[in-house]
Amino acid sequence: MTEKITAVKGMNDVLPKDSYLWEWLEAQVRDLMHAYAYSNIRTPIVEPTALFVRGLGEVTDIVEKEMYSFEDRLNGEQLTLRPEATAGVVRSVVENNLLYDAPRRLYYMGPMFRHERPQRGRYRQFHQMGAEALGFAGPELDAELILMAHALWQHLGLKDVRLELNSLGQPPERAQHRQALIAYLQDHAQLLDEEAKRRLHTNPLRILDTKNPDLQGLVNAAPRLIDFLGQTSLAHFESLKAILDANGVAYTLNPRLVRGMDYYNLTVFEFVTQSLGSQGTLCGGGRYDYLIEQLGGKPAPAVGWAFGVERVLELIKAQGLAQSVAPLDCFAIVPQAQSFPVVFKAVESLRRLGLKVQMHAPSLGQAKPEEGKLASLDDKTPWQHVGSMKSQFKRADSSGAMYALIFGSDELATGCVTVKSLRDGQGLQRVELLKDIDQWGKALQSSLHPKS
Ligand code: ATP
Ligand code: MG
Repeated sequence: MTEKITAVKGMNDVLPKDSYLWEWLEAQVRDLMHAYAYSNIRTPIVEPTALFVRGLGEVTDIVEKEMYSFEDRLNGEQLTLRPEATAGVVRSVVENNLLYDAPRRLYYMGPMFRHERPQRGRYRQFHQMGAEALGFAGPELDAELILMAHALWQHLGLKDVRLELNSLGQPPERAQHRQALIAYLQDHAQLLDEEAKRRLHTNPLRILDTKNPDLQGLVNAAPRLIDFLGQTSLAHFESLKAILDANGVAYTLNPRLVRGMDYYNLTVFEFVTQSLGSQGTLCGGGRYDYLIEQLGGKPAPAVGWAFGVERVLELIKAQGLAQSVAPLDCFAIVPQAQSFPVVFKAVESLRRLGLKVQMHAPSLGQAKPEEGKLASLDDKTPWQHVGSMKSQFKRADSSGAMYALIFGSDELATGCVTVKSLRDGQGLQRVELLKDIDQWGKALQSSLHPKS
């Protein structure tokens, strides 16, 4: 047999057993975004490498070791599969002059690519859903975004999600802190790992974001940015906290929270959980008031967040919060192949009324002639082997449908169909006239979906 080709390590298929949950989450998030007046933006997956080098910072984990970069074979351009979406959104906002008359609230969903060591909750192709508010300077938008994420966790019913909050201040405050941090780290140079030594003078703040457990003690005792903030930065932070307090959003102040990209200033935050082991950060975000200018736009402030879809779905599954199969209303049982023309007409009518209907159809297994027997000319053609009533009922049962519609020869001879409940435990059934299908179909639809 020819050798199989398998997926790239760390890049996963979303299979039918999970894809309904993905679609469901996407729908919930779309509704949430619309409720807060955020519009959808879709930017390319491939961007110029320079966008991320300039936007995220040269001395960051992502740019130093995680990007999928390549040269365009035809024109030699340096390109990268996006590792995150904020830089691309800002590029697009600048390029299309989206801030010329008013600020913007935008959201996106899609795949991101980082060359990391694949493990639970950490993949090389993963997915994010994110929101960005561009052109707003005040703490109200920091609050709006945090409240929006909080509302999503509440709506999904997630338990054990905690908000961590910090402020990184403004560039002059960062510069002062940087001096103190370098001095502190130099005093403890013997404790630094190779990466930290390398970053000591290029990007010491990144050392605080290290994942090396041996450095945690050092990091915990390091000078804290929050102690370097001036009045204006502190006032911004206090106003944000006041809105969160007034709205019952609990948070923990974490002076160690610095995030992994260079573009952040003032507010940064993460939503974390204990329930997913070491990959416990669900969502991260913050202010990035200088990124637009850095990417060639007219200076404008901005703030945003993104959450990891795989991690949120894993939490939803772990906490048993959503059904994982698409709901089905009816399963049409078709004992004779010659009934299909009539059956189609009926199930099409029901679908037009909004009912979800799966029709039985012969499958490959049933089309095979009996073992050891050659198909003879008198045999039915393969597609006429519709399968026994018993096997069709089994499929109807496992399909999750609420009702079986039985299109037997007796029924069809009298212009009828039997509608049999599959879920009431007693198999209650009634016979309906096909000519009245719009009437009883509508009644069936509203009994199954009272709201729609
Ligand atoms: P981590 O510290 O776990 O590496 P991060 O700080 O690199 O996360 P962000 O760049 O802030 O993550 O991305 C926001 C969210 O995207 C994360 O909180 C996480 O839920 C998700 N995420 C990031 N990297 C991955 C990955 N490799 N696989 C799956 N999800 C990821
Ligand atoms: Mg990371």
